[in-house]
Amino acid sequence: YEVYGAPVVGDNHELRGVVLVLHDITELKRLENIRRDFVANVSHELKTPMTSLKGFTETLLDGAMDDEKARKQFLQIIWKESDRLSHLIDDLLHLSKLEREDLELEWQEIQVTEIAKEVIELLRSKAEEKSITLTTTFQPELTMIGDPLRFRQILINLVSNAINYTSPHGQVWVEVMEKENQVVMIVKDNGIGISEEEIPRIFERFYRVDKARSRNSGGTGLGLAIVKHIVEAFEGDIQVDSEKGKGTIFIVKLPQR
Ligand code: ADP
Repeated sequence: YEVYGAPVVGDNHELRGVVLVLHDITELKRLENIRRDFVANVSHELKTPMTSLKGFTETLLDGAMDDEKARKQFLQIIWKESDRLSHLIDDLLHLSKLEREDLELEWQEIQVTEIAKEVIELLRSKAEEKSITLTTTFQPELTMIGDPLRFRQILINLVSNAINYTSPHGQVWVEVMEKENQVVMIVKDNGIGISEEEIPRIFERFYRVDKARSRNSGGTGLGLAIVKHIVEAFEGDIQVDSEKGKGTIFIVKLPQR
């Protein structure tokens, strides 16, 4: 608590009492801690690829450039790390935009089925690289009202995760349909799954069950935080069910309006 006090003085300057104001700052403290953790996390996440970019560039300049094999290998690492860095910056900008409450969504008609098909085409090669079978069931010509770019982002993030956290030769199912005036999207995989204790934490910014695995697959730890924000902006709902080693299912419901 923050405490403010003031004396109450009578006409003859006698002390008649004291007014105390108790201000509950637990919530403010909590928000301040979240903000501080966030800044620390961002700095750390930016620093890791930067250190590796600097290190490999230095080694190249120090002579590794003359070795054809080393040169190629180091440049590939530099390229991968720069790519990760720009992905992280994109996600951060995206998240900070979403958190500005004054930001209006671009409400317009969303061609739900068309966008879902586009997203699958975008991610198909990623699935093929791991020989993952992508099975889709889309209700034809489905539409709703909302922000199309943000709607697209939900599917991109959920389907990329399903591919990232499923072992080679696994399966990913994506279903999009309308039910009781809601657009329902189901993204299911038979991948590594998430344990019960970890499920409530996966929507936190930068939370990853396995940092190394997330990094290797190009993850930033922000994907699901972004999804949750968008679903809230749409006044929708997201649910997860998962079993370690068996697979995961995400169900998103958005009002069609
Ligand atoms: P990342 O960039 O690490 O994928 P996300 O915010 O998208 O970050 O997800 C947070 C964490 O939740 C991931 O690091 C992973 O541990 C877990 N996760 C997300 N989707 C799945 C899934 N389909 N199967 C298993 N684990 C998942």
